[in-house]
Amino acid sequence: MPRDFLKGAQDEYDVVVIGSGLAGLTSANILGRAGHRVLLLEQHYKLGGLATWFLRPGSHTFDISLHGFPHGMIKSCRRYWSRDISDRIVQLKNIRFDNPQFSLTTTFDREDFSRLLVERFGQNPETVKSFFDTARGMNFYDDQTTTTGELFERFFPGRNDIVRLLMEPITYANGSTLEDPAITYGIVFSNFMSKGVYIYEGGTDDLIKRMTRELESNGVDIRINCPVESIDVNDGRVRAVNVGDRTIRCRAVVSNANLRTTILKMIGEEKLDADYVRRTNEVRLNNSSTQVYMALKEGETIDESSGDLFFTSTADEFKTESLLSRDITSRTFSFYYPRTRPWKKKERYAIVSSTNANWSDWNDLSEADYNASKQDLVETTIDALERYIPGVREKIDHAEAATPRTFQHYTRHEMGASFGTKFEGLGVSRDLPGQIGGMYHAGSVGIIMSGWLGAINYGVIVSNEVDQLLTSESSPV
Ligand SMILES: Cc1cc2nc3c(=O)[nH]c(=O)nc-3n(C[C@H](O)[C@H](O)[C@H](O)COP(=O)(O)OP(=O)(O)OC[C@H]3O[C@@H](n4cnc5c(N)ncnc54)[C@H](O)[C@@H]3O)c2cc1C
Repeated sequence: MPRDFLKGAQDEYDVVVIGSGLAGLTSANILGRAGHRVLLLEQHYKLGGLATWFLRPGSHTFDISLHGFPHGMIKSCRRYWSRDISDRIVQLKNIRFDNPQFSLTTTFDREDFSRLLVERFGQNPETVKSFFDTARGMNFYDDQTTTTGELFERFFPGRNDIVRLLMEPITYANGSTLEDPAITYGIVFSNFMSKGVYIYEGGTDDLIKRMTRELESNGVDIRINCPVESIDVNDGRVRAVNVGDRTIRCRAVVSNANLRTTILKMIGEEKLDADYVRRTNEVRLNNSSTQVYMALKEGETIDESSGDLFFTSTADEFKTESLLSRDITSRTFSFYYPRTRPWKKKERYAIVSSTNANWSDWNDLSEADYNASKQDLVETTIDALERYIPGVREKIDHAEAATPRTFQHYTRHEMGASFGTKFEGLGVSRDLPGQIGGMYHAGSVGIIMSGWLGAINYGVIVSNEVDQLLTSESSPV
């Protein structure tokens, strides 16, 4: 008999959270802490969504999306998780770039970027200051028609090299392009520039373990291997979720699953206004990624001068299409030293190479071509790394690749989207409770609410709204 992963679960909760990505976990934690009865349902056998890791023989542990996030994570984790978690967030100080236009090392904050723009790229200090102030002053209600490309052209006309410095890491961080609204760039860039790039020391496995402990102490009922198939709605109000042969009643649902899947598949078009369905159908998914995971043999090391995050490209100039092309020219290497990722059993060094990617470049391949393409990705990536660390091929104990198909498989994100949806997804996500009472979405959308910090913060915003709804309904009138 198959194992019943819902054994002992109640028939009714105040709120059901669908999906355990960082937004889902954070929503569940806040709502549990507020005293609501919370059920967290995850379809995978592990919690974390894209914030995950995997193990390989030889004591190798690989992180999927732990490369860097803004300083704001410290405050969000301290407030909505625990000091135990926030105290483990540390700065990555050695950020490198190498491409045909420039090679440099930076701490990736406003002070150092201002210095570089003035001294290295010959810009007027006033222009630089004005650019930073404009980027920092952007908010959701700003003009959403100006594109990031136009913003750069206004401050640094004709300077493709400056565009590359300012844009390449952000495209890597959330898939945004020069054609996206400038607000999506301004908010994310300013978040990083406030104090640089940070990482969770100890690895994703340690983080998720601590988060799980916290959820349990707040009474959240956590169930893995539980894919939600559909959401029941009656009289314009969410009533229950269906998982396997169980229908679990609830007063509110927070879906952390992909926005389009939540609305179009789990809820269903017939329960929604036609105009809302049209807007949902028009939401574009963000791009996906490929990664190559490389672990060194026991006893082999990499010098820390290699950097923490290393943005490399062989393309002559910055172009969004080249960043996504299967003909890879851009690779971002994350170096994991025993200092930044302390190993539990044996000391190990690992390198993860990430490149943004198109779903169609991988999905349309036959199984044989797919496997060959993955192997080619591994080999060409090691070749690229050899340029910077001669002899590294000989030091590697294990290497393997993940593709958009891998990300889709593990998270059920359509087209393996790594960073949720484009900007228009945010409005659709925010308007969901207006369509169906008690139905919310929290998770990577609109670029601004994507990445580790964006996802956690969106989980906070949405859980506060759910808390208000549940509390107002249970208070005596
Ligand atoms: C290769 C890569 C590198 C990245 N690097 C960084 C980085 O360096 N810094 C950074 O800040 N961000 C990075 N990101 C982005 C970041 O990981 C994500 O934006 C963030 O983790 C997404 O969180 P989320 O809450 O939106 O949910 P997700 O992580 O997308 O999780 C959604 C969850 O819902 C579950 N689910 C889906 N359908 C169902 C269902 N029907 N029933 C139950 N459960 C369901 C899924 O299994 C999954 O666990 C990276 C992403 C990728 C792919």
